[in-house]
Amino acid sequence: MTARFDIIVIGGGIAGLSAAAMLAEHAQVVVLEAEEQIGFHSSGRSATMVHYALGDRVVRALTQASRVFFENPPDGFGDIPLGRRMPVLIHARDDELADLDALEADIAPFATLDRLDSRGVHELCPLLKDDARHGLADRNGIRLDPHALLQGNLRQLRSRGGELHTGSRAAAIEYQARVWSVRTDKGDKYSAPILINAAGSWADQVARLAGVQPLGLEPKRRTIITFDAPAGTILEELPFAKTVGEELYFAPESGRLFASPMDEVPSDPCDAQPDEYEVALAAHRMEERTTLKVDRIHSRWAGLRTFTPDRKPAVDFAIDAHGFFWLAGQGGFGLQTSPAMAAIVESLIVGTPWPIPDVDPSELLADRFLGQPA
Ligand SMILES: Cc1cc2nc3c(=O)[nH]c(=O)nc-3n(C[C@H](O)[C@H](O)[C@H](O)COP(=O)(O)OP(=O)(O)OC[C@H]3O[C@@H](n4cnc5c(N)ncnc54)[C@H](O)[C@@H]3O)c2cc1C
Repeated sequence: MTARFDIIVIGGGIAGLSAAAMLAEHAQVVVLEAEEQIGFHSSGRSATMVHYALGDRVVRALTQASRVFFENPPDGFGDIPLGRRMPVLIHARDDELADLDALEADIAPFATLDRLDSRGVHELCPLLKDDARHGLADRNGIRLDPHALLQGNLRQLRSRGGELHTGSRAAAIEYQARVWSVRTDKGDKYSAPILINAAGSWADQVARLAGVQPLGLEPKRRTIITFDAPAGTILEELPFAKTVGEELYFAPESGRLFASPMDEVPSDPCDAQPDEYEVALAAHRMEERTTLKVDRIHSRWAGLRTFTPDRKPAVDFAIDAHGFFWLAGQGGFGLQTSPAMAAIVESLIVGTPWPIPDVDPSELLADRFLGQPA
């Protein structure tokens, strides 16, 4: 028997769940997630920051528009705060000063920034070496609780009558008589006139299953390690500290520190695992940029950040398939932009007013990649 819905969402990461939770207010929605738990892939492996030191103007505008949601989640989302304040410090050596100036100009329209001299940098982050002589501080950074965010969306989805089916990998997808039919690897069947592809790193694979032209998405692996901070470090006062270039970030994490060498290693969609080289690189860069010795790595993990060719997300109906909606390419900003992205999905599918005045819908069109080799 086929279960009929108005909208099928493929993917139970933050993208699929947040869009489904919004849409469930207007329609019968089901989310199909291949794994037994939500957020098992990218959404459960991130650095969980809300900050402006990544992406372009569009990503920053989506981030800015999402902040109000994190600070004041809607009723029924749950009682656990979605995040806590953590300052963001972008630091630079003398030879990186021009890059810091350029980044300041890019971020200034979105955040209140303090320009710091060497003393200010080291007051905020005493672990940095003396050559970190310039800094930009955004004191309003947010460290998200991804579990609270995922569970809040799930709670809202269910309270609005929507369904989540885990352990349900979409294995075959067909379009006939204006209806999408999905068969899972368990043999369950679902149908709906609208299919949302929120399959993260697998979104191009899902498109191929559906006979839709892929976008040329590029999953890239990123690695994180955790280790002990030196005795006496007041972890609660440390910022999320990032080099002005794409080299290293670190921050406090559950009584320790975490660090990433900001690797972007091309990968097939998979259950990403850390590679020894990037693990060692993270420790090496920590020792290069801070006064710390990383004697023992406590834990390590890796996840995929999946980009479109121009590194802006694709949020739009496919031009080559009726009712097939792309929600893909959230790169390294999928958590911090998820409320704005979900509001955009709602607007394009239900017809609510366009929610982000600073972003033009044309900037997110999926068809901008059509005709390019994928
Ligand atoms: C190390 C690291 C650091 C990061 N730091 C940040 C950060 O600080 N701030 C930030 O905002 N973002 C950050 N990100 C990025 C963020 O995690 C992602 O952009 C976001 O999680 C993407 O969400 P998603 O729902 O698209 O993908 P996912 O969470 O991967 O969800 C996609 C889901 O689709 C499912 N799926 C795939 N194929 C099928 C199928 N055929 N049928 C059913 N289900 C299927 C998968 O099982 C998966 O659960 C980071 C990512 C990494 C890896």
